[in-house]
Amino acid sequence: MFLAEWTPETGWQDARVVPYGPLLLDPATAVLHYAQEIFEGLKAYTHADGSVWGFRPEANADRLQRSAHRLALPELPTDWFLGSIASLVAADRAWVPTGEERSLYLRPFMFASEVFLGVRPSQHVTYSVIASPAGAYFKAGLKPVDIWLSETFTRAGAGGTGAAKCGGNYAASLLPQQEAFQHGCEQVAFLDSVENRWVEELGGMNLYFVQSDGSIVTPELSGSILEGITRDSILTLARDLGHEVVERKVSIDEWRDGVASGQITEVFACGTAAVVTPVGRLAWNGGEVDCAKGEIGKVTADLRAALVDIQYGRAEDRHGWLTRL
Ligand code: PMP
Repeated sequence: MFLAEWTPETGWQDARVVPYGPLLLDPATAVLHYAQEIFEGLKAYTHADGSVWGFRPEANADRLQRSAHRLALPELPTDWFLGSIASLVAADRAWVPTGEERSLYLRPFMFASEVFLGVRPSQHVTYSVIASPAGAYFKAGLKPVDIWLSETFTRAGAGGTGAAKCGGNYAASLLPQQEAFQHGCEQVAFLDSVENRWVEELGGMNLYFVQSDGSIVTPELSGSILEGITRDSILTLARDLGHEVVERKVSIDEWRDGVASGQITEVFACGTAAVVTPVGRLAWNGGEVDCAKGEIGKVTADLRAALVDIQYGRAEDRHGWLTRL
């Protein structure tokens, strides 16, 4: 695991790769009480020639800096972020898997490590990176995921921390996630917190809607949506494939009625873990629509293939998204 420390006096220092193991925390460590914590998620991929590559790690460095700003944590310079990834992958080289859909998942995280009870920004911050080999996200293969519409709970409020990747957002999503499981769904769709009307995202993935005219719509960034790196990559890849792509507000009625009328032909979710995944049923208290009828739509499948072919080095990296590790 990679570790580094920050204090206001020293800045970032003491970067080191050490054997993976428990962190010993004083019970008064600030993060355990006030949740001043952020994280990232990205993958390293092995290409056919054995070389190992990261996918847009600078975009994760940027997002970690934006999250740090929102959580009043110190920003980690991009070269420190990239160096932490490269040094951990170098040490864990033997753990980077080869083969279809396999990768080394990297989890950078930063937390308030000062031993202090009091609501103010921590004066000691620890940054760490851990890693784990990862296989395909869905063991049963790629099949549409069923989504529960959370009408009672939102994951993030206006002016809140939704655009930051902080642990508290995920804590807030666990109860609605349990509700989803109780209704036979795997994931939750969240609406905006003000009007309870605009589609935001899933608990850990962004959403796309394919229209009958071939154009593709994704909810515009609202300040409470997490700006996914996969979401951003799909904006570009969809245009490469000749689709018109629009970022705008999408209401929950547009989703429900559009699927029912055929105006929306495919719905898919995207994120680092599950890449691009078709959405099946959308269920809510009192009804449901089926977005996929058990199938993977052609646009969804083509976009997924375009993305993974770049990640695994099978297609030309036209946008300069790969970094050799
Ligand atoms: N939304 C949320 C809430 C997430 O946690 C994630 C995963 N980081 C995403 C969207 C997708 O982001 P990315 O494509 O960068 O993995």
